[in-house]
Amino acid sequence: MGETIGKIALAACQVIMIQVLLSAGAVTGEEDHDVLYQVSTIDALLESVYDGVMNMSGLLEHGDFGIGCFEGIDGEMIGVDGEFYQALADGSVRLVSDNQTTPFATVTFFEPDLNLTVEGDNLTLLESSIEAQIPSDNMFYAIRIDGVFPYVKARAIPKQEKPYPRLAEASANQSVFELYNVSGSIVGFYSPPFSKGVNVPGYHLHLISDDRKAGGHILDLRLNQTTASLDVTPEFFMLLPTEGAFAGANLTKDLSAELEQVEK
Ligand code: ZN
Repeated sequence: MGETIGKIALAACQVIMIQVLLSAGAVTGEEDHDVLYQVSTIDALLESVYDGVMNMSGLLEHGDFGIGCFEGIDGEMIGVDGEFYQALADGSVRLVSDNQTTPFATVTFFEPDLNLTVEGDNLTLLESSIEAQIPSDNMFYAIRIDGVFPYVKARAIPKQEKPYPRLAEASANQSVFELYNVSGSIVGFYSPPFSKGVNVPGYHLHLISDDRKAGGHILDLRLNQTTASLDVTPEFFMLLPTEGAFAGANLTKDLSAELEQVEK
Protein backbone atom coordinates (compact mmCIF):
# COMPACT_ATOMS: atom_id res chain seq x y z
CA MET A 1 0.00 0.00 0.00
CA GLY A 2 2.74 2.42 1.07
CA GLU A 3 4.80 1.33 -1.94
CA THR A 4 1.85 1.97 -4.31
CA ILE A 5 1.34 5.47 -2.93
CA GLY A 6 5.06 6.02 -3.30
CA LYS A 7 4.94 4.97 -6.95
CA ILE A 8 1.92 7.20 -7.63
CA ALA A 9 3.67 10.10 -5.94
CA LEU A 10 6.82 9.44 -7.98
CA ALA A 11 4.79 9.27 -11.22
CA ALA A 12 3.06 12.56 -10.32
CA CYS A 13 6.44 14.14 -9.64
CA GLN A 14 7.71 13.00 -13.02
CA VAL A 15 4.67 14.53 -14.74
CA ILE A 16 5.25 17.81 -12.92
CA MET A 17 8.95 17.69 -13.80
CA ILE A 18 8.14 17.23 -17.49
CA GLN A 19 5.66 20.12 -17.37
CA VAL A 20 8.29 22.35 -15.74
CA LEU A 21 10.84 21.43 -18.40
CA LEU A 22 8.34 22.05 -21.20
CA SER A 23 7.29 25.44 -19.87
CA ALA A 24 10.93 26.42 -19.22
CA GLY A 25 11.67 25.55 -22.85
CA ALA A 26 8.76 27.66 -24.06
CA VAL A 27 9.83 30.67 -21.99
CA THR A 28 13.41 30.39 -23.23
CA GLY A 29 12.19 30.28 -26.82
CA GLU A 30 10.20 33.49 -26.41
CA GLU A 31 13.05 35.26 -24.64
CA ASP A 32 15.44 34.43 -27.49
CA HIS A 33 13.27 36.51 -29.78
CA ASP A 34 13.77 39.64 -27.67
CA VAL A 35 17.56 39.38 -27.77
CA LEU A 36 19.63 41.82 -29.74
CA TYR A 37 22.48 39.62 -30.93
CA GLN A 38 25.70 41.38 -31.85
CA VAL A 39 28.97 40.20 -33.36
CA SER A 40 32.05 42.22 -32.25
CA THR A 41 31.97 45.96 -31.49
CA ILE A 42 31.69 49.13 -33.57
CA ASP A 43 34.99 50.42 -32.19
CA ALA A 44 36.74 47.23 -33.35
CA LEU A 45 35.35 47.93 -36.83
CA LEU A 46 36.58 51.55 -36.62
CA GLU A 47 39.99 50.10 -35.65
CA SER A 48 39.98 48.06 -38.91
CA VAL A 49 39.16 44.66 -37.40
CA TYR A 50 37.47 43.33 -40.56
CA ASP A 51 38.16 39.59 -40.14
CA GLY A 52 34.98 37.59 -40.65
CA VAL A 53 34.33 35.69 -37.42
CA MET A 54 30.86 34.21 -37.92
CA ASN A 55 29.32 32.77 -41.04
CA MET A 56 25.88 33.75 -42.27
CA SER A 57 24.24 30.44 -41.43
CA GLY A 58 25.44 30.91 -37.83
CA LEU A 59 24.23 34.51 -37.74
CA LEU A 60 20.79 33.57 -39.06
CA GLU A 61 20.31 31.30 -36.05
CA HIS A 62 20.11 34.49 -33.98
CA GLY A 63 17.80 36.61 -36.07
CA ASP A 64 15.71 37.13 -39.20
CA PHE A 65 16.37 40.88 -39.29
CA GLY A 66 19.44 43.04 -39.02
CA ILE A 67 22.38 44.93 -40.43
CA GLY A 68 26.15 44.62 -40.59
CA CYS A 69 28.98 44.12 -43.04
CA PHE A 70 31.21 41.36 -44.39
CA GLU A 71 34.82 40.20 -44.21
CA GLY A 72 36.88 43.13 -45.48
CA ILE A 73 33.68 45.28 -45.13
CA ASP A 74 32.67 44.49 -48.76
CA GLY A 75 29.42 46.46 -48.87
CA GLU A 76 26.51 46.58 -46.47
CA MET A 77 24.39 43.82 -44.93
CA ILE A 78 20.61 44.08 -44.84
CA GLY A 79 18.44 41.28 -43.41
CA VAL A 80 14.67 41.33 -43.55
CA ASP A 81 12.08 38.53 -43.19
CA GLY A 82 14.90 36.01 -42.86
CA GLU A 83 16.50 36.96 -46.19
CA PHE A 84 19.93 38.56 -45.93
CA TYR A 85 21.40 40.69 -48.71
CA GLN A 86 24.75 42.23 -49.56
CA ALA A 87 24.63 45.69 -51.15
CA LEU A 88 27.95 46.04 -52.97
CA ALA A 89 29.93 49.17 -53.81
CA ASP A 90 29.34 48.54 -57.55
CA GLY A 91 25.64 49.17 -56.94
CA SER A 92 24.54 45.55 -57.22
CA VAL A 93 22.69 43.60 -54.54
CA ARG A 94 22.90 39.87 -53.99
CA LEU A 95 21.57 37.31 -51.56
CA VAL A 96 24.27 36.27 -49.12
CA SER A 97 25.59 32.73 -49.14
CA ASP A 98 25.82 30.60 -45.98
CA ASN A 99 29.62 30.58 -45.95
CA GLN A 100 30.13 34.34 -46.19
CA THR A 101 31.39 35.73 -42.90
CA THR A 102 30.82 38.90 -40.90
CA PRO A 103 33.18 40.94 -38.69
CA PHE A 104 30.31 43.05 -37.28
CA ALA A 105 26.56 42.54 -37.31
CA THR A 106 23.48 43.16 -35.19
CA VAL A 107 20.44 40.91 -35.60
CA THR A 108 17.22 39.98 -33.85
CA PHE A 109 13.97 38.17 -34.54
CA PHE A 110 11.74 41.05 -35.54
CA GLU A 111 8.43 41.02 -33.68
CA PRO A 112 7.07 44.59 -33.55
CA ASP A 113 5.90 45.96 -30.20
CA LEU A 114 5.22 49.57 -31.21
CA ASN A 115 3.83 51.26 -34.31
CA LEU A 116 4.77 54.93 -34.62
CA THR A 117 3.59 57.48 -37.15
CA VAL A 118 6.76 59.14 -38.42
CA GLU A 119 7.88 61.56 -41.09
CA GLY A 120 10.91 63.57 -42.05
CA ASP A 121 12.27 65.78 -44.81
CA ASN A 122 15.70 64.47 -43.92
CA LEU A 123 17.31 61.73 -41.80
CA THR A 124 17.76 63.98 -38.75
CA LEU A 125 14.06 64.92 -38.80
CA LEU A 126 13.03 61.26 -39.13
CA GLU A 127 15.25 60.43 -36.15
CA SER A 128 13.68 63.27 -34.13
CA SER A 129 10.23 62.03 -35.11
CA ILE A 130 11.04 58.54 -33.74
CA GLU A 131 12.90 60.01 -30.75
CA ALA A 132 9.83 61.99 -29.67
CA GLN A 133 7.77 58.80 -29.43
CA ILE A 134 9.99 56.04 -28.05
CA PRO A 135 9.16 55.24 -24.44
CA SER A 136 12.79 55.44 -23.30
CA ASP A 137 16.17 56.43 -24.71
CA ASN A 138 17.79 53.73 -22.57
CA MET A 139 16.61 50.75 -24.59
CA PHE A 140 17.60 48.94 -27.78
CA TYR A 141 14.96 48.99 -30.52
CA ALA A 142 14.91 47.24 -33.87
CA ILE A 143 13.27 49.56 -36.42
CA ARG A 144 11.52 48.69 -39.66
CA ILE A 145 9.81 51.10 -42.04
CA ASP A 146 8.20 49.79 -45.23
CA GLY A 147 7.02 52.14 -47.93
CA VAL A 148 7.77 54.23 -50.98
CA PHE A 149 10.47 56.74 -50.09
CA PRO A 150 10.69 59.92 -52.20
CA TYR A 151 14.47 60.08 -51.71
CA VAL A 152 17.16 57.88 -50.19
CA LYS A 153 20.89 58.55 -50.24
CA ALA A 154 22.66 55.27 -49.48
CA ARG A 155 26.26 54.18 -49.49
CA ALA A 156 28.31 51.01 -49.72
CA ILE A 157 31.99 50.70 -48.75
CA PRO A 158 34.10 48.65 -51.21
CA LYS A 159 35.95 45.47 -50.23
CA GLN A 160 39.17 46.27 -48.38
CA GLU A 161 42.47 44.42 -48.74
CA LYS A 162 45.05 43.72 -46.03
CA PRO A 163 46.72 45.56 -44.43
CA TYR A 164 43.29 46.98 -43.68
CA PRO A 165 42.92 50.78 -43.52
CA ARG A 166 40.91 52.36 -40.72
CA LEU A 167 37.17 52.49 -41.40
CA ALA A 168 37.33 56.29 -41.69
CA GLU A 169 39.84 55.87 -44.56
CA ALA A 170 37.89 53.03 -46.18
CA SER A 171 34.66 55.03 -46.08
CA ALA A 172 36.35 57.90 -47.95
CA ASN A 173 36.14 55.63 -51.03
CA GLN A 174 32.50 54.64 -50.50
CA SER A 175 30.01 54.54 -53.37
CA VAL A 176 26.98 56.78 -52.88
CA PHE A 177 23.64 56.02 -54.51
CA GLU A 178 20.76 58.48 -54.79
CA LEU A 179 17.43 56.76 -55.18
CA TYR A 180 14.12 58.45 -55.94
CA ASN A 181 10.65 57.07 -55.19
CA VAL A 182 12.15 53.81 -54.11
CA SER A 183 9.82 51.15 -52.77
CA GLY A 184 11.53 49.21 -50.02
CA SER A 185 12.28 48.56 -46.37
CA ILE A 186 14.35 50.58 -43.94
CA VAL A 187 16.01 48.17 -41.52
CA GLY A 188 18.04 49.11 -38.49
CA PHE A 189 18.39 49.85 -34.82
CA TYR A 190 18.30 52.50 -32.17
CA SER A 191 20.99 51.90 -29.56
CA PRO A 192 21.12 53.79 -26.26
CA PRO A 193 23.83 56.39 -25.48
CA PHE A 194 25.49 54.03 -22.97
CA SER A 195 26.25 51.54 -25.77
CA LYS A 196 28.96 53.92 -27.08
CA GLY A 197 31.99 51.95 -28.23
CA VAL A 198 29.92 48.77 -28.50
CA ASN A 199 27.31 49.77 -31.10
CA VAL A 200 26.30 53.01 -32.85
CA PRO A 201 24.57 55.19 -30.22
CA GLY A 202 21.38 56.54 -31.78
CA TYR A 203 20.08 55.42 -35.16
CA HIS A 204 21.79 53.12 -37.67
CA LEU A 205 19.60 52.37 -40.68
CA HIS A 206 20.09 50.44 -43.92
CA LEU A 207 17.81 50.17 -46.97
CA ILE A 208 16.80 47.30 -49.21
CA SER A 209 14.51 47.96 -52.18
CA ASP A 210 11.49 45.74 -52.76
CA ASP A 211 12.93 44.58 -56.09
CA ARG A 212 16.17 43.70 -54.19
CA LYS A 213 18.20 45.66 -56.72
CA ALA A 214 19.28 48.59 -54.55
CA GLY A 215 20.38 49.07 -50.99
CA GLY A 216 22.98 50.33 -48.59
CA HIS A 217 23.70 52.27 -45.43
CA ILE A 218 21.36 55.28 -45.27
CA LEU A 219 23.11 58.67 -45.22
CA ASP A 220 19.99 60.74 -45.81
CA LEU A 221 16.40 60.43 -46.95
CA ARG A 222 13.07 62.11 -47.39
CA LEU A 223 10.03 60.36 -46.03
CA ASN A 224 6.32 61.14 -46.22
CA GLN A 225 4.18 60.34 -43.19
CA THR A 226 4.27 56.59 -42.65
CA THR A 227 4.41 53.88 -39.99
CA ALA A 228 7.59 52.76 -38.29
CA SER A 229 7.44 49.42 -36.48
CA LEU A 230 9.70 49.03 -33.46
CA ASP A 231 10.72 45.86 -31.66
CA VAL A 232 11.77 46.54 -28.07
CA THR A 233 14.79 44.32 -27.36
CA PRO A 234 15.68 44.49 -23.65
CA GLU A 235 18.13 41.60 -23.86
CA PHE A 236 21.58 42.04 -25.38
CA PHE A 237 24.07 39.36 -26.37
CA MET A 238 27.53 40.20 -27.67
CA LEU A 239 29.87 37.70 -29.29
CA LEU A 240 33.49 38.88 -29.14
CA PRO A 241 35.89 37.49 -31.78
CA THR A 242 38.29 34.83 -30.48
CA GLU A 243 40.28 34.89 -33.72
CA GLY A 244 41.68 37.54 -36.05
CA ALA A 245 42.84 41.05 -35.12
CA PHE A 246 40.31 41.69 -32.35
CA ALA A 247 42.47 40.48 -29.43
CA GLY A 248 45.30 42.88 -30.30
CA ALA A 249 43.19 45.93 -31.18
CA ASN A 250 43.47 49.06 -29.03
CA LEU A 251 39.90 49.63 -27.90
CA THR A 252 40.62 52.23 -25.23
CA LYS A 253 40.13 55.35 -27.35
CA ASP A 254 37.11 57.62 -27.70
CA LEU A 255 36.25 57.18 -31.39
CA SER A 256 33.01 59.23 -31.34
CA ALA A 257 34.27 61.78 -33.87
CA GLU A 258 35.47 59.07 -36.27
CA LEU A 259 32.17 57.22 -35.91
CA GLU A 260 30.23 60.40 -36.73
CA GLN A 261 32.38 60.87 -39.84
CA VAL A 262 31.88 57.27 -40.99
CA GLU A 263 28.15 56.94 -40.29
CA LYS A 264 26.77 60.27 -41.55
ZN1 ZN B 1 25.62 50.86 -41.76
